[in-house]
Amino acid sequence: MRIAFFGGTFDPPHLGHLTIARAAADRLSLDRVLFAPVGSQPLKQDSSIAAFADRMAMVKLAVAGDPRYAASDIDAPRADGQPNYTIDTILRLKDTLNVEDRIFCLIGADSFLSLRHWYRAFELLFACEFIVAGRPGFDLADAEQSLSPSARIVGDPMHTPGLDTVKLTNDAGKHATLYFLPDLHEDISATELREALAKPGTPAQELPPSVAEYIQQHHLYRG
Ligand code: ATP
Repeated sequence: MRIAFFGGTFDPPHLGHLTIARAAADRLSLDRVLFAPVGSQPLKQDSSIAAFADRMAMVKLAVAGDPRYAASDIDAPRADGQPNYTIDTILRLKDTLNVEDRIFCLIGADSFLSLRHWYRAFELLFACEFIVAGRPGFDLADAEQSLSPSARIVGDPMHTPGLDTVKLTNDAGKHATLYFLPDLHEDISATELREALAKPGTPAQELPPSVAEYIQQHHLYRG
């Protein structure tokens, strides 16, 4: 099985998330994409977010249309109140899989370019394969710089339509592979969507209709 962990705040899940998941699943022949709302995002501690139960309910609605997608509670709020760290989640996920399974971490270019600030980032980079989706305003050409000095790119990237494959290594001689989806330019952000939804009468564009309905029924994001 080829399984991607797709973590995020999903506050709310939007069409940008679905577009990058579809591109990743199609281009890397993924069997499963696990959309996992995060209980507590280590780098977004001070921003107020909808309750985990609401974000999970919206993710379940958003993933309903594609049999390759599933909502996962693997990143649910921790009993000890600590933030959820992706390295812990990936290692836990690996424990539940077979040795022949391949595990990927799907993220947007904005998140990837901030990876060096993540907890045990350079261990994470070699613990799974990363799929990085392009995002307006973030240049994947900056990726090498953001990896340095703990990891470096080996050789030239391999280009196939819609997919760049990059090999990485580190001083300990470990190897990893990164996959870039460079042609994705989804100009959608959850922050901007929440701001728009706070204004009365704003049409819920850029949301799956079932998610828009949930937001309306549960009075979420009202100003
Ligand atoms: P915000 O705009 O508030 O930062 P977000 O939609 O980026 O919200 P998350 O829900 O945490 O935030 O995103 C989950 C993952 O999806 C992250 O890895 C993020 O980089 C990626 N992502 C979200 N929107 C896009 C997009 N438009 N293009 C590419 N990647 C995206």
